[in-house]
Amino acid sequence: MTRSIRPLVAGNWKMNGMKADIVIASEVAKGYDAGLKAAVDLAICPPASLLITASVVLVGSRIATGGQDCSTQGSGAFTGEISAAMLADAGASFAIVGHSERRTLHGESNATVKAKAEAAQKALLVPIVCVGETKDEREAGKALAVVKKQLRGSIPDGATGATLVVAYEPVWAIGTGLTPTAADVAEMHEAIRAELGRLLGKAAAAGVRLLYGGSVKPSNAVELMNVANVDGALVGGASLKAEEFLAIARACG
Ligand code: PEP
Repeated sequence: MTRSIRPLVAGNWKMNGMKADIVIASEVAKGYDAGLKAAVDLAICPPASLLITASVVLVGSRIATGGQDCSTQGSGAFTGEISAAMLADAGASFAIVGHSERRTLHGESNATVKAKAEAAQKALLVPIVCVGETKDEREAGKALAVVKKQLRGSIPDGATGATLVVAYEPVWAIGTGLTPTAADVAEMHEAIRAELGRLLGKAAAAGVRLLYGGSVKPSNAVELMNVANVDGALVGGASLKAEEFLAIARACG
């Protein structure tokens, strides 16, 4: 953890969740007790179909909501897209952008991710910009170079700790049960903080929350959350179980 930074644990429900599953959000709110509230911020990013409902269910809980993507565009003839302003209007405070599933399955480039992050900021959302290397890239010793290049291409100019969150999610760790070693996470998060320093200035970079994501579970959360420069987690599968999500949050406390 970075002691001066309040950690954030964000749940990415991906394309999971029907109306009835909003109970997961209510259960997380019930378990977000005074001790946890003092220690860690929480956010839930449900599918767009449940965003308003989740925002309403979570009113008064101090748990934020977020979208899983947003358009680069403000409004208009973009069938199927959701603008950042629409997410904000549905109660969101965050927008995940550049998740590896978007980069891979939808061919999103660094430039697109940067445009989405800027669109999110324009709507007063905080973008959670995802970066991470593939297995081949790690095995070829290119992980640091790949992630630094993604940061240079995807991070909005002039961002600060108040307007940006970065999530390091090794592609090979997402949904696989595999995680990097604590030493590898430490090396990567230190490199990300340094690269942000070059891009945004040291003072701004020092305040940016750097989340680790990729197979975070209650059983590995304490180790991962205690790595230097890890300021919380972006959680996929385990965020669909309230008790597991809360246990991960407790690991930040
Ligand atoms: C994710 O999709 O952002 C993620 C981290 O997934 P999981 O926790 O399931 O690996």
